[in-house]
Amino acid sequence: MIKPFAKPVYVTQPYLPPLDEVVAELQKIWDAGWLTNNGPKHQELERVLSRVLEAEHLSLFNNGMTALMIGLRALELKGEVITTPFTFAATPNALVWNNLEPVFVDVDPVNLTFRSDKIAAAITPRTSAILGVHVFGNLCDVKSISAIAQKHNLHVIYDAAHAFQSKLDGRAIASFGDMSMFSFHATKLFHTIEGGGLAVNTADLKQRIDYLKNFGIKSEAEIIAPGINGKMNEVQAAVGLVVARHLPEERERRQQVKRWYLERLSGVAGLTVVTADVSDDNSHQYFVIRINADQFGATRDDVYEKLKTFQVFARKYFFPLCSTFPQFSDLPSSRRRNLPESSAAVTEVLSLPYSGYLTEEDVDRICAMIISFRRT
Ligand SMILES: *Cc1c(COP(=O)(O)O)cnc(C)c1O
Repeated sequence: MIKPFAKPVYVTQPYLPPLDEVVAELQKIWDAGWLTNNGPKHQELERVLSRVLEAEHLSLFNNGMTALMIGLRALELKGEVITTPFTFAATPNALVWNNLEPVFVDVDPVNLTFRSDKIAAAITPRTSAILGVHVFGNLCDVKSISAIAQKHNLHVIYDAAHAFQSKLDGRAIASFGDMSMFSFHATKLFHTIEGGGLAVNTADLKQRIDYLKNFGIKSEAEIIAPGINGKMNEVQAAVGLVVARHLPEERERRQQVKRWYLERLSGVAGLTVVTADVSDDNSHQYFVIRINADQFGATRDDVYEKLKTFQVFARKYFFPLCSTFPQFSDLPSSRRRNLPESSAAVTEVLSLPYSGYLTEEDVDRICAMIISFRRT
């Protein structure tokens, strides 16, 4: 008999850095009496993260969604943007806030990012950009996307919320496309409680973004753009500086947790691991499996519900599919027959508890539960 956990185990547990180190940083903020508006902690974190992400230029934000909204605005896009339906609501909703229309393209059944070979057929005279999402740290086909964008004169933006420190052939993911958005939400590998960053490749674009995130203020007497308030404050930045210091340890712990899962779940009939990369080039943001009900003998929803009875709260990331949201369901590209692989994936994926706090015994128990749900 597998015993339920005594306390709930959630899909993630935010990394809490040593409190004394946070207090020491807070003391410096109190001494300076400077709480927000590009203060010393903000400047320091921007430098630190530029290095960590190998970003040419980086702007910090109060959260990732604001970063994406402002990034899209800074590019002055119009019309349609090609994107994936298999993502978090923030991605297509950021388009709507810029009066842009998403055009959904189906995903690859294995890595769950949108298929680059489907992009060309979705381009119309109204297309202004491609918005890719590195889903669960699985990278988009960035090289093909660059080639398509160049040929059709389109901008390329990446929602890299799941791809902190990801690399492709040794090259930092932030260097692909016009810009990459990172989320520093508490549930992400690196966090500032709430926060976000926009990596861009020109100083000019960073300057425009920095105006837009601060009401469009250039100087006391010049407000040059219809900006909003997207600024990160000093307390967020201080937490980020301490979390960044401990990032290598957290990454190693997560790599180990991933190995424990893989040892137990690899080869189980009807179950595939969507995030199997244990290399240093991966972001180790989520641990996601996919359940083929026919082969496994239980549906994803069965597994999700049964895990709850054992105090294990997995999540159906990403369910429902964005194309089925009321604000998108009438779009021509939202038709189910345009999105067969995405429509199948949303019924089969399950994000299992994943954080550096899990022990081998925890993983052992969670996997034993899942395997016990099979009916074969
Ligand atoms: C977390 C996340 C965001 C938004 O991040 P916030 O910082 O919470 O605004 C955007 N896109 C994806 C794919 C995410 O997972």
